[in-house]
Amino acid sequence: MTIIHNLGFPRIGAARELKRAQEAYWAGKSDLDSLLATGRELRARHWAIQRAAGAQWVPVGDFAWYDHILEWTTLLGAVPARFGQPDDAPVELDTLFRMARGRAPSGTPAAACEMTKWFDTNYHSITPELHPGQTYRIARESLFEQVAEAQALGHRVRPVIPGPLTWLWLGKGDAYAAGAGDAAKLDLLPGLLAVYEQVLQRLAAQGVEWVQIDEPILVLDLPQPWREALAGAYARLTAQGPKVLLATYFGGVEHNLDVIRALPVQGLHVDLVRAPGQLKAVLATLRDDQALSLGVIDGRNVWRADLDRIHEQVRAAAGLLGDRLWLAPSCSLLHVPIDLGLETGLDRELRGWLSFAVQKLDELRLVRALVDDDADAEDRQALAAARQAVRDRATSTRIHRRDVAERLSHSGSVHRDRAPFALRIAAQQRRLGLPRYPTTTIGSFPQTPEIRALRRDWRAGALGDAAYEKAIREEIERVVRFQEEIGLDVLVHGEPERNDMVEYFGELLAGFAFTAHGWVQSYGSRCVKPPLIYGDVARLAPMTVAWSAYAQSLTDKPVKGMLTGPVTILQWSFVRDDQPRERTCRQIALALRDEVQDLERAGVTVIQIDEPAIREGLPLRRADWAAYLGWAVDSFRLSTGGVRDDTQIHTHMCYSEFNDILDSIAAMDADVITIETSRSNMELLEAFEDFAYPNDIGPGVYDIHSPNVPREDWMVDLVRRAARRLPAERLWVNPDCGLKTRGWPETRAALQAMVRAARTLREAA
Ligand code: GLN
Ligand code: ZN
Repeated sequence: MTIIHNLGFPRIGAARELKRAQEAYWAGKSDLDSLLATGRELRARHWAIQRAAGAQWVPVGDFAWYDHILEWTTLLGAVPARFGQPDDAPVELDTLFRMARGRAPSGTPAAACEMTKWFDTNYHSITPELHPGQTYRIARESLFEQVAEAQALGHRVRPVIPGPLTWLWLGKGDAYAAGAGDAAKLDLLPGLLAVYEQVLQRLAAQGVEWVQIDEPILVLDLPQPWREALAGAYARLTAQGPKVLLATYFGGVEHNLDVIRALPVQGLHVDLVRAPGQLKAVLATLRDDQALSLGVIDGRNVWRADLDRIHEQVRAAAGLLGDRLWLAPSCSLLHVPIDLGLETGLDRELRGWLSFAVQKLDELRLVRALVDDDADAEDRQALAAARQAVRDRATSTRIHRRDVAERLSHSGSVHRDRAPFALRIAAQQRRLGLPRYPTTTIGSFPQTPEIRALRRDWRAGALGDAAYEKAIREEIERVVRFQEEIGLDVLVHGEPERNDMVEYFGELLAGFAFTAHGWVQSYGSRCVKPPLIYGDVARLAPMTVAWSAYAQSLTDKPVKGMLTGPVTILQWSFVRDDQPRERTCRQIALALRDEVQDLERAGVTVIQIDEPAIREGLPLRRADWAAYLGWAVDSFRLSTGGVRDDTQIHTHMCYSEFNDILDSIAAMDADVITIETSRSNMELLEAFEDFAYPNDIGPGVYDIHSPNVPREDWMVDLVRRAARRLPAERLWVNPDCGLKTRGWPETRAALQAMVRAARTLREAA
């Protein structure tokens, strides 16, 4: 029988048990024993699911209290000095939590470690902190304990650990200013490998036959020293102990196959979902004694697979490799929700198109039945249902809308470009009459418990539409009056009607669906429930116009219309896989374009389209950047291109590390861009200066992540720093980001100080 197996299972639990247990423990509402018990229950449950699905081994090491990279960092004893970890004691769980969050029920608080986005996913890992001469030792027993725990439950175990090169790549430190690929980090490798060897020996002693070592960096463009370091490292890791399955995912490895071929590993896993084209080259480099694991079920998305197509895809390899062929999901299932079975609220048709972690393992079993040609009656029934679902999805009128297809095919011509910025800004200034250093905010105002309760009651049906609308209007009026009172120049309505900047729009657009339990871990105990974009996207009716028009009717000052941009909506959703992402993005852009034009018609003179996710959508390999940026920028322009020259278009991004994509940001050609800069002391503006960024820019003058009220003189100083890099007449004064997580007292004080700062700047000018 062909081996099927799994690279990792989501750890949070179908009812987010892990989140609840951790948060209760952190808050002092439960003790360590009950936390540990929850972990054990979840592991046991998840192992049982994988075994029942026919997986050859259960993964161990995919469970993590906060993050699997942090688990590994603490196992290695790589605890930064500020956490006071003694060199000879084990690392306690509370120390791990302090590294993640700065504090824990025991131990002295200290600054938390940074987070790094996990490749191109929405998962974030805790960044290892590295320094020259760093030493490693086995400082935590949890991996070995969990191996024993799974064995005691009767499972065959395959531990999964982060590879040494990937762990170093993720690490940061003052001595490694060149970033992820800094070759100086490789000096740490020998010491690191010594501990890897000890770990592997201990696992061998526990009777482990195979270990999965994850080196997702193999899909990246690796600097030569890193490529060279691989051979020596894996020679050591395979010299004794368990056999090694080297796992790669999130992309193809063709460009690194020359080094991979030289590695003495006993097995290789490749991602055929992201990079189906690599199979031939991989097969050609595989040695006779190696197993090849093909990732055929999409571990990054929620759609049911076309099992016959997968069968076709792997048929030749199966003939060639026999029992050296293994089948698996493309990557760990960490990135998909756990169980579609809980989604009883979704209609049957839509549910038929979906597959979450539990279902993906069943799909894998069916692929095996096809490959081995041994489907039993039950399998045959399941296969028939799977085929029917694929056929339905290909033709469903819920997915394919004629009007959208037609419009999209003509969208090239609707793409009217606006006048050059210099003309536009002059027209906008005539119309808006703003002072120098205009002040504004990013959109949201404090989302108080009362506002959340309003939305909750309305959704639950406990509050009628009229009462809800009245209450939201009152809140909008309060926010507008407040902004007038303190003297802001460009106002916002405050977004009280929005739970989330993507969900709000998804719920109003055709082509989107929402799950009840489709949670995916983002970091630590934080989970997100991404919308599903299953069909052609279309706007059914105006989405924000009534709220914005109402807000504008209250005041003579401009009130910004507030939309979420096409790329961000795409990026924070599960996107249909039956057409290119680019096409879905353009559909969203066209829907937003209608909204933009309706806002303009309703008398809104300034419209902001937030695109905080543009940068995180960047492909993993540089060679793919230009294509992505091309359609991302184009989509933004498609949504804004229809407006008058004297309607002012703003965009907002939550960061300002734009160095290598500034030409694309400039090509978006928003009249005003607001970005997060306060914590960098405006140093991040250097890139804008070097580029001679031409349009207006609002570098954030205070950090909204902290409740501290910024000082006026401090903000004046920041803007002066900005003015050294960019023309003063191009500068706006605004916070770093939206204010929804803040309370009213600090918001009031902070914005008052910000307005005073702008006045001081104007008077001095
Ligand atoms: N307009 C949104 C807000 O103010 C922007 C949020 C974001 O950039 N993530 O909340
Ligand atoms: Zn932001």
